Formats: sequence, structure tokens, C-alpha cells
Amino acid sequence: MIRINENYLKLQSSYLFVEIANRVSAFQKQNPDFKIIRLGIGDVTRALPPACIQAFHQGVEEMASDTTFRGYGPEQGYAFLREKIAQNDYQSRGADINPDEIFVSDGSKCDTANMQELFATDIRLAIPDPVYPVYLDTNVMAGRTGSFDGGRYAKILYLDSLPQNGFVPDLPAESVDLIYLCFPNNPTGATISREILKTWVDFARENRALILYDAAYEAFIRDQRLPRSIYEIEGGREVAIEFRSFSKTAGFTGTRCAFTVVPKSCMAYDNSGQRHSLHALWNRRHSTKFNGVSYPVQKAAEAVYSEAGKGQVRELVDYYLGNAALIRQEMAALGFEFVGGENSPYIWVNCKRDAWEFFDLLLKKAGVVTTPGPGFGKCGQGFIRISAFNSYENVKSAMLKIKEVLGAL
Ligand code: PLP
Repeated sequence: MIRINENYLKLQSSYLFVEIANRVSAFQKQNPDFKIIRLGIGDVTRALPPACIQAFHQGVEEMASDTTFRGYGPEQGYAFLREKIAQNDYQSRGADINPDEIFVSDGSKCDTANMQELFATDIRLAIPDPVYPVYLDTNVMAGRTGSFDGGRYAKILYLDSLPQNGFVPDLPAESVDLIYLCFPNNPTGATISREILKTWVDFARENRALILYDAAYEAFIRDQRLPRSIYEIEGGREVAIEFRSFSKTAGFTGTRCAFTVVPKSCMAYDNSGQRHSLHALWNRRHSTKFNGVSYPVQKAAEAVYSEAGKGQVRELVDYYLGNAALIRQEMAALGFEFVGGENSPYIWVNCKRDAWEFFDLLLKKAGVVTTPGPGFGKCGQGFIRISAFNSYENVKSAMLKIKEVLGAL
């Protein structure tokens, strides 16, 4: 008899986006002429930068001739891309990361999901609330949690991100083994200072813990004082794995390219307390289960680091940051408290009422789709996430409609 992994039965159905889609389509059916603007989903809307498109085309052309054709590439990624990443994203900022510590992949979703395979099932986990749901769900699947009760899984230490702590969780009062952090944060848009990030690195060193640091939105950081990488922090190389993606940096959500940094100095322990290199373990996992990102896509990603590419990527991110600034301005004028949107594409708004009630109000009266906070965790109650990923024109008309509706209340 074929039996299932019963941990899957503990998973909560990912009802959030299904529920949003159902509510939007039911409303649209009843009101076919009502224009709906989507500021809910975290997907980019603008085309790839021209430098990436050009390199992408060249990569495809090379595949068209026997003399330049490429078959399987290195599972870890081509050296041309890994070298550019190490130079531009790390060494130029004083972070000591070498090309062979970088693993190119087809997405940070998969990497953040897969990394937990390296660790024992009875480790103690610390996971933020609210959170990008992948960290939690993949640990549920692996059997590291108890059942779901009262909005939370047993055996997880939740790191509450609330107005009281500026949406940056406090250090745990107890020892933990694996810590997930994400800055700039999805869904709150909050960022972390160097000083606070250093306290997390120190905590991990003291507890022989590991930090999984998701920096998928790093390109949105404009404040020079903020760290763009955990490796800018002293000791980060010993205790952190970092995830980065071209998805939100250069519009690669549909093209698929990302990378994970596993420093050679990062260690984990076996039952007898003996140290093991996480780099070696991840290399083993990655090369056993993954066959690399396609050559033209890696060429397109490499172009992000060309002079033209750098300028175009900056312009692309600035565009969304302009949308975010407009959302901030209008929400402030309406008297809302919020975080994010300055060094991040997300604005996390305290809606001062039930999140789903506010979602419905914005949908039905203003025709604007947002994301209700409870979908990201218990601490999301009373909040909605507004995404800056849309055209400036759409964001402008969404804000005008919200102003009309809320102003009339
Ligand atoms: N990490 C965070 C925090 C995200 O919000 C997302 C996507 O929305 C990802 C990772 C996934 O990125 P990718 O497109 O590289 O899989």
C-alpha cells in the first residue's frame, strides 16, 4: 500500500491567494464594467532590461550553432556569472565572498524551500510572523512542526514582527538552531539596520545556530546605511546562508534565475558535535538534485552586471520605488500608519479594522486588490500589504479611488 507523508496533512490550504482570487472574480462577475487594479500580488509588471534581452538573444543564437552550442552546464552555475556576482554584489561592498561559494539556481523560492533538507528534523526553528509562507510550509512538510492550532504550528518559535518592535523581531529569549530572516521584508517592507543585524549574527555565533537570510528584495535598498548583505556584518560568513534573486532586481520572475551563497566557513554539527561544511553538503544536494539554469538565462543574468545593465536595473527598481513613494504619500495623507515602501516594494498598512473587511471595502468600493495580512501569519491581523508592482498610472488611479472611498466614509 502506497502511503503518504502525513506531514502534508498538517498544512493549511494556501487559502489566501485562492480566497483573494475567488472574491475578485465573484465581484468582477457581478460588476463586469468595474475597473479592477491589482496591487496584491508580488509580481513585477515591466519588461526585462534591454541589456538582459540582448544577452538572452545572443545566448539563444549560440545554441543555434554546433560550434557554440552548450549542453549540460555546471550545476553550480557558469563561472562567468558566479564571478560577476561575487565581484559586484559582495567584494565591491567589502563582503568576502568568492565565486565558488555561489550556487546559481532557478529561484529563491526553491532554494529557501530546499535548504532545510540539510538539517535534522528535531532542530529548534525560529520563523518570523508575518512571513513569506515558504519557510514555514517546507518545514511542516519535513515534519519539524506539530499540528496547527490557534493560528500557529506547535514546536515553532515565532518571531513576532509588530509595531512595538518596528517590525524587526526581537532576539529569542531561548536557544534556537535555525533562524529565518528576510530583509527588506516580505510582506512588511521593513528593513534591518547593521547594528540589529549584528546582534542576530552574534546570537547565532553564541548558540551555534544558522541564519537563513533572504535578501530577495536587496535591490530596493537605497539608504546607504542599511546592509545589503548579511556578509557585510562581521562574523556573518560563519553563521549565515544568503538567498538572492534576479526576480525582483531585474524582472526575472518569469525568466527564473537566482543564487544562494553558502560560505565555506559556515558549519553545522552531527550528533556527536563534529563540525561539517554546509558548503560541501549543499554542493552535494544541489548537484544531485539540480541540473543547472539554462545558458541563455545565465547570459541574461550576467548582463545585469554590465554598465548598461546596472543603469537599466536601477531605473527599473526606481520606477517601482516611485510607485511605493506615491502609495506612502497617499496613505499618510489618509492618516494611516504603515511601514515599508522606502527601501522595499511593499507597504504594510495598519488598517485599524479587520484585514478582510478592509480588503473587501477596497475591492468593492475602489476596485483595488490588496493582500490581507493574516495570510502571512497571526501577526498580520489588522494589516494589509500593498504592492508597488504595477504601472505608475494604475497606482495613481488606485490611490485616487481609495482616497475618494475613504474620504467619503
Ligand atoms: N523570497 C521572498 C521573500 C519572496 O517574496 C519571493 C517571491 O515573491 C521569493 C523569495 C522567490 O523568489 P524567486 O522568484 O527567485 O523564486
